[in-house]
Amino acid sequence: MEQVMGKESPAGELQIHNVNKWYPGKVHAVIDMNMEINQGEFIVFVGPSGCGKTTLLRMIAGLETISGGEVIMDGRVVNKVPPKNRDIAMVFQNYALYPNMKVKDNIAFPLKMRHTGKQETKSRVAEVARKLELDTLLERKPGALSGGQRQRVALARSMVRKPKLFLMDEPLANLDARLRTEMRREIITLQRELGVTTIYVTHDQTEAMTMGTRIAVINEGVLQQFGTPQEVYRHPANLFVAGFIGSPNMNLWDTEPVAEQGHCYLTLGHARIPMDKRNLPPDSLKGGIKAGIRPEHIMPAASGEPGAIQMKINILENTGREMAVFLTAPGMPDLTMITGADFSGQPGQSVSVRLLSEKIHLFHKETGQAL
Ligand code: ATP
Repeated sequence: MEQVMGKESPAGELQIHNVNKWYPGKVHAVIDMNMEINQGEFIVFVGPSGCGKTTLLRMIAGLETISGGEVIMDGRVVNKVPPKNRDIAMVFQNYALYPNMKVKDNIAFPLKMRHTGKQETKSRVAEVARKLELDTLLERKPGALSGGQRQRVALARSMVRKPKLFLMDEPLANLDARLRTEMRREIITLQRELGVTTIYVTHDQTEAMTMGTRIAVINEGVLQQFGTPQEVYRHPANLFVAGFIGSPNMNLWDTEPVAEQGHCYLTLGHARIPMDKRNLPPDSLKGGIKAGIRPEHIMPAASGEPGAIQMKINILENTGREMAVFLTAPGMPDLTMITGADFSGQPGQSVSVRLLSEKIHLFHKETGQAL
């Protein structure tokens, strides 16, 4: 019996155990991947191009063989189960609609395949079409739609029924910025209503932060961190995550701890930032540390204020709500500061800034791990 929107949700737990993917030519695309995904979660796989996120998604879908390890759905190993028997719905960037079918028939297709009754089908299609603002387009064929409208039809088709898993690979990549933002919200709302476990692939860290209940940050086939957006943002596990998540990027620089006359400092170029003692790493790591601070944790200071650093404003970027201030100074790493949009400095001017020392992250330079 087909389960559709609004009916009791099926399970949708997913475990990924030591999953590996080798492609011919010795490409180790996915390396010892482990994840436990709960029913109803919205998981985002995020990472740079080529990091292996699509490969992992395709192994979960059954579209790619698994070289090692297990994919387990609701307690059952599905490595050898063909895609059509996994009860998943997929949307990809290059969605394929049936060109000769009207929009309403395209959306209804998955229900038809499962012999859902006419009335039920009609009301499901109407409901999902209304949510994705397609209700006035139902009688058209895909050829008479814009790219964004077609993409919404593809989403509607995948979300018209209630599978165990939604798998989405960059489904908003072809949309303009405004539509992307709108569609993000529609997808989140629909997913929440349906309660279907969802895995969403993107290289866009803003999309990851705003959509995921948990984010899996992947680099070079390796899972770097798996946590809520807040955890990943506030406590990046390593240098890669620190640099990848957050826009503008976290400021990162080589640093050394200095202890002098009972006070502790971290070097920032030729400047010193007063530090609380407990934040300092052991002496054994001297010379091997990177420090990081988010742009919002740097702020204008009164000159002469303890810990104030003199820098020059290089570029200003005003978003209307806030100002990104790009700072330079001889012998200092470049820094980015976020301030209110009413910041009055001008490019070329000097400015005093201070860093919130309790917000500084420290990383082992070689292993990249957070200290
Ligand atoms: P993108 O965001 O660009 O789609 P991705 O993170 O989804 O990238 P994958 O497509 O999973 O990355 O690719 C992971 C790695 O595996 C890449 O190095 C890629 O070149 C390689 N790869 C993917 N498909 C194949 C294939 N069929 N044969 C050989 N290597 C492949």
